Amino acid sequence: MNNICDMIIVGGGPGGATAALYGERLGLKVLLLDKQYFPRDKICGDALSGKSIVYLRELGLIEKIEASPQAFVDSIIFSSPNEKVVTIKLVPTAQHGITSGYVCRRLVFDDLLFQAAKAKVETIEGFAVHDLIREDGMVKGIRGRAKGGSEQEFFAKVVIGADGANSVVARKTGLYEHDLDHVLVATRAYYRGVSGLGTAIELHYVKPVLPGYFWIFPLEDGLANVGIGMVKSVLKKRKIQLKDAHIAATEAPFFRERFRNAELLGDIKGWNLPSGSKRRTIHGDGFMLIGDAASLIDPFTGEGIGNAMASGKIAAQVVAELSKGSDFSARALSIYDQRLWKNLGGELKLGYNLQRTARFHPLVNLVVHRAAKRPEVADWISQMIAGQVSKRELLRPGTYVKLLLK
Ligand SMILES: Cc1cc2nc3c(=O)[nH]c(=O)nc-3n(C[C@H](O)[C@H](O)[C@H](O)COP(=O)(O)OP(=O)(O)OC[C@H]3O[C@@H](n4cnc5c(N)ncnc54)[C@H](O)[C@@H]3O)c2cc1C
Repeated sequence: MNNICDMIIVGGGPGGATAALYGERLGLKVLLLDKQYFPRDKICGDALSGKSIVYLRELGLIEKIEASPQAFVDSIIFSSPNEKVVTIKLVPTAQHGITSGYVCRRLVFDDLLFQAAKAKVETIEGFAVHDLIREDGMVKGIRGRAKGGSEQEFFAKVVIGADGANSVVARKTGLYEHDLDHVLVATRAYYRGVSGLGTAIELHYVKPVLPGYFWIFPLEDGLANVGIGMVKSVLKKRKIQLKDAHIAATEAPFFRERFRNAELLGDIKGWNLPSGSKRRTIHGDGFMLIGDAASLIDPFTGEGIGNAMASGKIAAQVVAELSKGSDFSARALSIYDQRLWKNLGGELKLGYNLQRTARFHPLVNLVVHRAAKRPEVADWISQMIAGQVSKRELLRPGTYVKLLLK
């Protein structure tokens, strides 16, 4: 066998690049592969929240983000189906004191992260993985092809599937699922000249797509990232064409004025968001799945970058620990599942509870109305977003009754 390394990472998005960077720090020999060449686009809302900032800080990349084209964000605007609006200020996060976020186009952000990894580990771009190599059931490597090239094989102690929503690694290991109740779907388009943009990301709970939302996120130089997303099973049931819903939202009386002079740049594009509303097996003999390949997107907010980075870090740590020995079996790698769910399980469960609750539009109206009228309710939501309210309290239904009676 030639080309043996500690960890082959299939996919150089935020999950894969983060795993590579932490892997290198931990002294691992890493090979990072991506079928595309960077910079490349990825359909996304482009919002980087507190969790992503934690990893970017740890990796020493915040200054690079700040020096790149992006928009600084310090608050969230929510609107309800009956058009009440509240602005929630971002307050310091409980664990890390982060008070702001960024909106940075993935063309820029992913390239920044990938180039940081490329400076530290071996990378191959334009290399599509199409199969796994197994020995006695253990994944031992990958088989793929560079653009225009012949088939190549690479071997590693562990293969990491960081290859996104349509993961080849998940498919080849029998772990790919597409359960419409646990997949979100969303559009994204860039506009120039949407009026009224500030330093807030805007989440508008418009009735046709509840519990999903229509978003308007500010970007650099008067650009905006605009999209609409919902649960896929609800979309099918209501027979909604998401692109039509996107256009209808920009033309609705509540938003029409803001889009009157806006220019749509390029196409309205759609993509799936595999959500973490259902716990799945994400490891096996010789491999682990991270990020979208592991379905880790927040079921309520649709955020997945922070969780992709979190899973990338944990996966790299597990490979480093197990590399002291020689056991990379499913049993040994199960510590990855355990640590990941200990870390993310509570908030994914909360996200799913909020998603199910938000299907009931009078309740969304009531919460936004109360928050707009009563600063203590808005403050409580700020603290909840910042992780200052304990998960136990957040998962207790009585908490919300108390909040609405405030
Ligand atoms: C419309 C929309 C809006 C969203 N908005 C937000 C948001 O505002 N904030 C947020 O945090 N999250 C958002 N998300 C979720 C976020 O985009 C994902 O969670 C995130 O990209 C996951 O990162 P990843 O590294 O796991 O996968 P990806 O970013 O999808 O990267 C996977 C990589 O694998 C490569 N690859 C795929 N197959 C192969 C193969 N066979 N061989 C080699 N390479 C391969 C791809 O080229 C790609 O570079 C949004 C998603 C959508 C669809």
